[in-house]
Amino acid sequence: MKIVVLNSGSSSLKYQLIDSETEEVLSKGLAERIGVVSGGGRIMHESFCGEVVLDVEMADHEQAMEHVFELLTNAKCGAVASVSEISAVGHRVVHGGEKFVQPTLVDEVIVEEIEQLSQLAPLHNPANVKGIRACMHKMPNVPQVAIFDTAYHSTIPDYAYIYALPYKFYEKYGVRRYGFHGTSHKYVTRQAQKKLAEQGLEPDKTRIITCHLGNGSSLAAVLGGKVVDTSMGMTPAEGLVMGTRAGDLDPAILVFLAKELRAIPNEIDDIINKKSGLLGVSGVSSDMRDIEKATSEGNYRARLALELFCYRIRKYIGAYSTALGGLDAIVFTGGIGENSCEVRERVCKGLEFLGIKIDEEKNKTLRGPADISDPSAATRIYLIPTNEERMIARETVELLNNGQ
Ligand code: ADP
Repeated sequence: MKIVVLNSGSSSLKYQLIDSETEEVLSKGLAERIGVVSGGGRIMHESFCGEVVLDVEMADHEQAMEHVFELLTNAKCGAVASVSEISAVGHRVVHGGEKFVQPTLVDEVIVEEIEQLSQLAPLHNPANVKGIRACMHKMPNVPQVAIFDTAYHSTIPDYAYIYALPYKFYEKYGVRRYGFHGTSHKYVTRQAQKKLAEQGLEPDKTRIITCHLGNGSSLAAVLGGKVVDTSMGMTPAEGLVMGTRAGDLDPAILVFLAKELRAIPNEIDDIINKKSGLLGVSGVSSDMRDIEKATSEGNYRARLALELFCYRIRKYIGAYSTALGGLDAIVFTGGIGENSCEVRERVCKGLEFLGIKIDEEKNKTLRGPADISDPSAATRIYLIPTNEERMIARETVELLNNGQ
């Protein structure tokens, strides 16, 4: 089957066309500056003919999809002859709330329900809905499937997802931990389970901590393939230190700052989501490469940000080892997890009491998927590149096959 995987942002569309049998990416691209009044719209598209950059104005997501379909079905370089060859579109949707815990075939009612969840993800769900609606209009006979970032975390037990606030806020507003990056955590967990099975460990007994470290970062504690805890919360702001997000905080600091700065909620939101994290502490950059470079040049605040970033991960690994009752493997993935041997080394150092011992040479030289742990250690350390698009394509196909 040929599956289009779509990740729709407020002014962008990221797409891949995947052959589900071979899992080969036949074509992919990114449409940017959709609906931006000052213009500058463009599509970067890759196919077997190579890469092309198109400067095109796109008033909305529907117009963007029109251009994308033209590219995908282009007589010379298109991966398919017509839209009818596309079996389904798998849409990444950020927030599924408590309702959507499985891949879901989308119809008008479901779109409206996803839209209603925008209260929990005001930046993401409305953008995801734009992509879904554009596809529903442009290809009414092709199944549209929503894959939720929160869904993989739906197995977290109540005592781990509830916040110690008055219970009525959970009942009235759905204030609880949902977790994000679920598709990535699921993909790398499956890979790690396969590797552990080669060592004789049954998949339903595996105790794995998956570390998705990118601009946004989160950890998940996964017992027998089911998530039992994760570091992001009701929103992606909780947990680890991120590029521009603070992660865990004393909640009273927000009240203090609101009073001190006479700030409105949006300003506080801006501080904790856009001005904090690596950027806020270092004053250098939100990008780990810049932080590492500045650290090596002796910049104190960059080193502080790097140490804080790694220390927070170590605290979570300690906590999640307890939640899992032991540990068989940790997995590093995401832009930082896959590429920064310095972060991996700093995270693992001193965790030998948990059976975690990194092989420094392998850590520096191997690219994923790889086992970078010392062979004598009890816990495996895996480096596994994530592939959310492939996972979305797989889940889309599974849903289509189960529905037949
Ligand atoms: P997103 O969460 O936006 O998908 P990515 O998973 O692409 O982000 O991760 C982006 C992060 O990965 C950035 O902080 C970037 O600095 C970091 N990164 C990418 N390559 C390297 C590298 N070679 N060394 C250190 N950090 C890297």
